[in-house]
Amino acid sequence: MKTYTSCLQTLDLGHVVLKNRFMMGSMHTGLEEAENGFQRMAAFYAERAAGGAALIVTGGVSPNEAGKLGLGPAERTMVSMVDKHRLITDAVHQHDGKILLQLLHAGRYSKHDSPVAPSPIQSPINRITPRELASDEILQTIEDFASSALLAKQAGYDGVEIMGSEGYLISQFLAARTNHREDEWGGNWLKRKKFALKVIDKVRQAVGSNWIIMFRISVLDLVEGGLTQDEILDLARDAETAGASLLDSGIGWHESRVPTIMGSVPHGGFSWATRRLKDAVSIPVIACNRINHPDIAEDIISKGDADMVSMARPWLADGAFAHKVQNGKIESINTCIACNQACLDLVFVGKEATCLVNPRACRETLINIQPARSPKRIAVVGAGPAGLSCATALGERGHRVTMFEASSNLGGQFNLAAAIPGKDDYRQTVRYFQQQLQQYNVDVRLDRHVSAATLIESGFDEVVLATGINPRTPNIPGIDGPNVMAYAEVLSGQSIPGRRVAIIGAGGIGFDMAEFLVGTTHEGPEDFANEWGIGLSNEMPGGLLTENVLHEAERKVFLCQRNDQRFGRTLGKSTGWALRISLEKRGINFIGGARYIAIDEQGLHIEQAGEQKILAVDTIVVCAGQTENRDLYNELIAGAVPTHLIGGADLAAELDAKRAIEQGLLLANKL
Ligand code: FAD
Ligand code: NAP
Ligand code: SF4
Repeated sequence: MKTYTSCLQTLDLGHVVLKNRFMMGSMHTGLEEAENGFQRMAAFYAERAAGGAALIVTGGVSPNEAGKLGLGPAERTMVSMVDKHRLITDAVHQHDGKILLQLLHAGRYSKHDSPVAPSPIQSPINRITPRELASDEILQTIEDFASSALLAKQAGYDGVEIMGSEGYLISQFLAARTNHREDEWGGNWLKRKKFALKVIDKVRQAVGSNWIIMFRISVLDLVEGGLTQDEILDLARDAETAGASLLDSGIGWHESRVPTIMGSVPHGGFSWATRRLKDAVSIPVIACNRINHPDIAEDIISKGDADMVSMARPWLADGAFAHKVQNGKIESINTCIACNQACLDLVFVGKEATCLVNPRACRETLINIQPARSPKRIAVVGAGPAGLSCATALGERGHRVTMFEASSNLGGQFNLAAAIPGKDDYRQTVRYFQQQLQQYNVDVRLDRHVSAATLIESGFDEVVLATGINPRTPNIPGIDGPNVMAYAEVLSGQSIPGRRVAIIGAGGIGFDMAEFLVGTTHEGPEDFANEWGIGLSNEMPGGLLTENVLHEAERKVFLCQRNDQRFGRTLGKSTGWALRISLEKRGINFIGGARYIAIDEQGLHIEQAGEQKILAVDTIVVCAGQTENRDLYNELIAGAVPTHLIGGADLAAELDAKRAIEQGLLLANKL
C-alpha cells in the first residue's frame, strides 16, 4: 500500500510547527461579499481546518481602497473589519488549523472605476486604463500593506500571504512589461524589484519576528515582458532576506494565453519551476497548480521539488482531503476535476463559488445532510452523475436505496466525457461515488434496464428517475447512412471515424468531440510546454519561447453550427478560450451559419451565406444536443408511485453535471 510519509510530515517554521504539508491556497469565493459572509466563511474554513489542512490562506483582501478587485459593492479592506475576521480565525483555531490573510492589491486588474498601477498601461483583461501612482502614493501603499498586516495580526491570523504574482500590483512593478517608470521605482531590475521588497520589509517591521509572512512569487509569468529566471531567483533570495518565512508559487499572469489550471495541464505540471526556487533559498517553498491527488503531492515533496503543496480547488471538492490521507482513505477523496464550472466560472460573473462535484462547498451553513426521520425504500434509476449523487446522499441519510443501471458501468455520460483529452479526471468522480455507494450500503444492480412495471411491483416508497437523455437526431436526408456516427459510438470506441470528419453541432459535446478527434493528452510537462510554447530551460522573459508553435493535426475536421454567433460562446469563461486556441492550432475549420441539406457518399451538403457547398468528408459525427429520457415517468405516475425526475431526465436543455449532481443532492435531502 502506498504511504504518504513525506506529505504527512510536520513542517517546522521556527516559531510554529505546521501539522503536515497540505496547504489550502487562496480562493476568492464570493462569500466575502455575501450576506452573513463572515459566518459562512468561518464555517467554510473551519471545515477545511477540521479536515486536516495545515495552513489555509484566505481570499485576497486589499490593503487599501484603490487595490480592491472591484468584484462587489461590499468588498472590504481590513480597516474596521477586525472583529468580523475574528469569527474566521477563532473557528479555524478551534480545529487546530493555521490561517493566513492574503493581502492583494489588484493594481491595473481592479475592475472599479479608478485603478492604479506603476504606469498607465491598460491590461488586456480590463477595459479601464489605470492611473500612474505618484511617488507619495507608492510610499502610502507600502504603509497600507504594513498596517493591514498588523490589523490581521490583531484579528488573530497566524500570518499574511503577500500576493506578489499573477499579474497583480506587485507583479506590475516587477515586470518591464507594465513598469515604464523612470524614477526610483522603475527602469532597471534593481529599481523594479524595490516595491516588492519594501512591502515585505515594512510588513516584517510592523508585525515582529514570530509571525508568518508568506510571499507569493511568480515562478513563471507566461507573458511577454515578464521576469527572467535570473530575476525570479534574485527576487526569491531578496524576499528571504527582507523577512519572508515561506515562498508560495504563482504560475502565469491572469492575462497570459497559456492555460495553467485547466484539465489539459498535466498533474503537478509546474512543480519544476518551483524546484528552481528551492535550490536558491533556505526558507520552505510551496508548489501549486493541478495537484489534486495525494500521490502527486507525495511525489513532489519526496523528490524535493517543494516543501509543501498548495491546493485550492481540491479543498472545495473535499473539505477533508488531508484527514482522509492521514486515515488511509484515499478512495473516499472527492477529487477536483479541474472543470472550473462551479468555482472560477461563477466567481468571474460575480456569483458565489461552489463545486460541481461537491455542491455543499461554500454552503456549509445552508446544506447539511441529516439522518432521515423515517427511513424509506427508495429506487434510483440511472447511475449517471444525478443518480449517483442522489443515491449516495439518500444512503447517507439512512434510507434503504436500490440503484438500477442499464449499462454495466456506473457513471453515465461521465464515462464518455472521460475519453476527452484533459478530462480523464472525470473518472475520479465515478470512483468516488462508487466508494460512497459501498460506504452507505446502496444496493447497486448493474445491467438492469428496469421497467416501470418492475418498479411498481417492487413496492418502493419513492422512485427517483435519473435516466438521463436521448441524443437528438436531426432531420437531415441521409442521417441514417453508414457514414454517420453518434457521439456516444465514437467516444466509447464502438466506431472509428475516418480522416476527414464533419461534426454537426458545436456545443459542449461538439467542441469536446473536436478535441477528441485532433487533440492529445499531455504526457508530462515537456509535452505541455512544447504545445504551449513554454521555455523549460531558456532565459526568455516570462518563460515563453519566441516562435509560434503550431501542431496541425493529421485529421481534417469541420466543426459546424447553424447559428452564426461566436463559436464556443457557451463554453466556460475560464476554459473555453484555451479550448478554442488549442483547436485553432490544430487547423480545425469552423463552419458557422450552416444549413444542413443532405448527407451522401460525397459528404455533408450545406448552404452557407447563400452558397451551396459539399464538405467532402468520410464521416459525419452528430453532436446536436439532447432530449429528456423519461420513458418510465407516465407509467409510474399512473401506478401512483411517488416519482421524482432529476438531471437530464428532468430537463435536457443546457444540462451539465453541476446541475445534475446538485439536483440529486437537494432532492435526497428532502425525501
Ligand atoms: P446520464 O449521465 O445520461 O446518466 C443516465 C443513466 O441512466 C445512464 O447511465 C443510463 O444507462 C441510465 N438509464 C437510462 N434508462 C435507464 C433504465 N430504464 N434503467 C436503468 N438505467 C437507465 N457536463 C459537465 O458539466 N461538464 C463537462 O465538462 C461535461 N463534459 C461532457 C463531455 C461529454 C463528451 C459528454 C457526453 C457529456 C459531458 N457533460 C459534461 C454532460 C454530463 O455528462 C451530463 O450533464 C450528465 O452526465 C447528466 O447526468 P444524468 O445523471 O442526468 O444523466
Ligand atoms: P449543447 O451545448 O446544447 O449543443 C448542442 C448543439 O447542437 C448546438 O451547438 C446546436 O447548435 C446544435 N443543434 C441543436 N439542435 C440541432 C438540430 N436539430 N440540428 C442540428 N444541430 C442542432 O448540447 P451538447 O453539446 O449536447 O452538450 C450537452 C450539455 O453537456 C451542455 O449543455 C453542456 O453544458 C454539457 N457539456 C459541457 C461541457 C463543458 O466543457 N463545460 C462539455 C461537454 C458538454 P445550432 O443550433 O447552432 O446548430
Ligand atoms: Fe474543481 Fe470543478 Fe469543483 Fe471547481 S467546480 S473545485 S474545478 S471540481
